[in-house]
Amino acid sequence: MAKKQFQAESKRLLEMMINSIYTQKEIFLRELISNASDAIDKIYYKALTDDQLVFNKEDYFIKITADKTNRTLTITDTGIGMTEEELENNLGVIAKSGSLAFKKENEAKDGHNIIGQFGVGFYSAFMVADELIVTSKALGSDKAYRWISAGADGYTITPAEKDGVGTEIVMKIKENTEDEQYDEYLEPYRLRAIIKKYSDFIRYPIKMDMTSQKPKEGSEELEEVVEEQTINSMVPIWRRNKNELTEEDYTAFYSEKRYGFDKPLKHLHVSADGAVVYNAILYIPENAPFDYYTKEYAKGLELYSNGVLIMEKCADLLPDYYSFVKGMVDSEDLSLNISRELLQHDRQLKLIAKNIKNKIKGMLQGMLKDERDNYEKFYKAFGRQLKFGVYNDYGMNKGDLQDLLLFTSSKEKKLVSLDEYISRMPEDQKYIYYASGESIERIEKLPQIELVLDKGYEILYFTDDIDEFAIKMIMNYKEKEFKSVSSGDLGIEANEEEKASEAEENDNKPLFDAMQELLAGKVKSVKASKRLKSHPVCLSAEGELSIEMERILKAMPD
Ligand code: ADP
Ligand code: MG
Repeated sequence: MAKKQFQAESKRLLEMMINSIYTQKEIFLRELISNASDAIDKIYYKALTDDQLVFNKEDYFIKITADKTNRTLTITDTGIGMTEEELENNLGVIAKSGSLAFKKENEAKDGHNIIGQFGVGFYSAFMVADELIVTSKALGSDKAYRWISAGADGYTITPAEKDGVGTEIVMKIKENTEDEQYDEYLEPYRLRAIIKKYSDFIRYPIKMDMTSQKPKEGSEELEEVVEEQTINSMVPIWRRNKNELTEEDYTAFYSEKRYGFDKPLKHLHVSADGAVVYNAILYIPENAPFDYYTKEYAKGLELYSNGVLIMEKCADLLPDYYSFVKGMVDSEDLSLNISRELLQHDRQLKLIAKNIKNKIKGMLQGMLKDERDNYEKFYKAFGRQLKFGVYNDYGMNKGDLQDLLLFTSSKEKKLVSLDEYISRMPEDQKYIYYASGESIERIEKLPQIELVLDKGYEILYFTDDIDEFAIKMIMNYKEKEFKSVSSGDLGIEANEEEKASEAEENDNKPLFDAMQELLAGKVKSVKASKRLKSHPVCLSAEGELSIEMERILKAMPD
């Protein structure tokens, strides 16, 4: 039978897997178990919402079987299964082409680590297996199919026999080589440890036949007994007591759930039982996903109703300005059957969303206060989003966000919050000064900053396009207005020098007139300036828009 070829992208990924020197090969098991669990979620959800289907809780499980003699490791699930077409589409191509785009981008930097960061799902099985045999029967179908592949040279799909609905994956475990050990993936105790490590909170039992020595009945003699055991504790992490969970547990959940391929910077475990009852685990990622600042990025939290996943990305749970937050929410107050449209109007969900918004704000404020380094890391990845949040919706959310902003300050070029800026202002300083430019180096060359710095005032350096727009929305912070160093009136006390410059202006009128004529159409007027020190000239803006803002608006596509 003719072999079908993998899609080009899949083939490359496969080759990466097969030749992987990645040390944490063990994650393949997490990937396969997670797929099995997703498949059971799907059928369980169907059963709960469809009266025609009757299933018992005991029907849902994942079984792992190691066979040393034949060098096979088998993962069986009672999930929704795959049709012939689904076998073709799901296993022959990469579901998330986005991840591959990201991989390509990063490949050059570090070809090997990527696999570890990614966990690329099903294909990771090829890190430890020479051949995969997937037999599956889909719900509602009476035919089963078998997908076989020994790697990059393609796969076949043929009709097969299988009793129940679900999927069975037989892995032919590689032989040990001089440098690499594979035998361990056939050792029940090793497998059990891997399951405990990554998949403990999977909601369905992960069963394994374990051999142990037990005394024979009525005698001291030991005998070998094989017992089927459930390896995982099954209690979802969000239902467990915070005090019993470690940082590692939360990180493991983050990876298992594929919330991101980085490590979370911070997590928050919420168990709310006030006006609205829910559990949530919220994460702040360490890095912005590769598509974060693009239209492709979709925000949202996983939504569970009483432990059953009802939506993978519920966008209504997060305001746009916190779109970077990952995680899940489980509430008993939500109906399983609820549709997307109804959900939008659900009162409970609105309450949860509001509650979560405040939790996130609190989490960020706490970080800013107590974990400055972490906060700055967060801010480098997602600060822009907060600034967009201030600017968007006519500044409606600035109250929630302005305390969270940081800007580079002229003082030691460190990040400073508005509150910190104000608290160290000299008494005679009236305004919060800022200067805009492409980079700090460029700003530091601006003639306009000298006078302000000379007064001993601090200047916020705006290097992000959005900065000045956001600040215009805030208008003033703790009763202090913002002032651009290039605005007409700097609010710095007039003094003898100023009088001198007035005199200078009058004395040199013919010169200024001549200059103005030369620059006609380019500048509005030429004046003597009282704010220059070591520079001969500077540009200043008079209207609402600064020169920088005009530049940005002009550069924007219409
Ligand atoms: P992901 O899980 O991120 O979608 P995978 O590479 O792990 O990517 O799996 C690809 C797809 O193959 C899944 O989305 C699913 O549709 C299908 N799949 C994999 N394993 C199973 C399984 N045990 N039962 C049913 N479908 C499966
Ligand atoms: Mg998967």
